[in-house]
Amino acid sequence: MKELLGDASDRAIRYLEGLDSRSVAPTPSAVEQLRAFDEPLPVQSTDPAETLRVLDEIGSPGTMAMAGPRFFGFVIGGSLPVTLAANWLAGAWDQCAGLYRGTPTASFVEEIALRWLLDLLRLPPECTGAFVTGATVANFCALAAARHVVLKQAGWNAEADGLFGAPPITVVLGEEAHPSVTKSLGLLGLGRSRVVKVPVDDQGRMRADKLPAISGPTIVCVQAGNVNTGAFDPTEEICRRAHAAGAWVHVDGAFGLWAAAAPSRAHLTAGIAQADSWATDAHKWLNVPYDCGLAFVRDPHALQAAMAITAEYLPTESDYRNPADFTPELSRRARGVEVWAALRSLGREGIAELIERNCEQARRFATQLSAAGFEILNDVVLNQVLVSFGDAEKTQRVIKEIQEDGTCWAGVTVWQGRTAMRISVSSWATTDDDVDCSVAAMVRIARR
Ligand SMILES: *Cc1c(COP(=O)(O)O)cnc(C)c1O
Repeated sequence: MKELLGDASDRAIRYLEGLDSRSVAPTPSAVEQLRAFDEPLPVQSTDPAETLRVLDEIGSPGTMAMAGPRFFGFVIGGSLPVTLAANWLAGAWDQCAGLYRGTPTASFVEEIALRWLLDLLRLPPECTGAFVTGATVANFCALAAARHVVLKQAGWNAEADGLFGAPPITVVLGEEAHPSVTKSLGLLGLGRSRVVKVPVDDQGRMRADKLPAISGPTIVCVQAGNVNTGAFDPTEEICRRAHAAGAWVHVDGAFGLWAAAAPSRAHLTAGIAQADSWATDAHKWLNVPYDCGLAFVRDPHALQAAMAITAEYLPTESDYRNPADFTPELSRRARGVEVWAALRSLGREGIAELIERNCEQARRFATQLSAAGFEILNDVVLNQVLVSFGDAEKTQRVIKEIQEDGTCWAGVTVWQGRTAMRISVSSWATTDDDVDCSVAAMVRIARR
């Protein structure tokens, strides 16, 4: 065992050390090589070391260098080394983290991490939270809590009696709401399309003046950090109007919520603490390994009412809360351990530095690309930059060549009718030199 695990760690370290010099996207030959995995299910056992060798030698080159310093696609962070190390140790513990009694360390460490997060993200201290796979499931959990409360106020128990015959719920969201919110609404029986959409401005922010009149059971979903522009909905104004009418306000803050931890960006999150629930990711800007998202709900009973589970054989009574009473899963890994490790090792200042550095680097991209004659389509308020290299066809061609060149990687998007390259700066590993050499590659390719 010692030899096998030592070999795994040697291989992992070699992989990480090679990220800076390899092509960010896997080469076509590395992808071609993946066919070697396509063998019949072995009948006989073989040396585990041989299996690890195949995984590394064939698998590692076929990966995208997402953990490296010049991957700028999809708002993806790398793993801070301390979080990968914590992940390895927690993997060795192999805890089934749903029950406090069964896994005291995992549950306790996650409790502490949740408390620290509420403080760091400037959310109300009375909130409860849940560690889930990502912001999609966090949106789902928070909206399940919302569904429970707005129907309970109308005299209906959604968990016990389902939705057939229930009083209708009005769901209000911006035209730019993330598809994970609409997907969650579909899963919850509230309907992906059965929503009231509020028009947005040129940055994708919901227009508070276009909010409909609210009455009856209502959930309003706002966004902190648009995936294209990084813009924030005017949450203070929306909370005031929604709460005056008794509605629930949910915030999708998958990456934008982290602005609260950075003094120079915290103003963007004004009013967000007044909402009723929040979803965010730790695998994005906190730079912990996949997968890790977080749901926060102001009223702990609301989330518990939506998620609680009981059975004779489950040891549910304890001095602390049972994690499985707050998540869709019963069995799950102790993903909060890596969050704890990131928070404890970076501290408040280290996290602020990470967020602010990435935001400055986004500005650096925008300034240099604009100076080179290319159009920046968004106000760069956070870590997102949208750049056009000309018409749609040319921009797409340039992006494809940038991806093939391998110096860096960024994806394509269409923003309010215009095709653009979308640059997201979210990694601890990115230096200003990485930005400069990525811009140089982009400009060289675009001018060609
Ligand atoms: C990434 C993202 C999501 C979905 O998060 P996952 O972790 O991929 O489930 C939801 N909302 C916004 C605004 C996002 O950026």
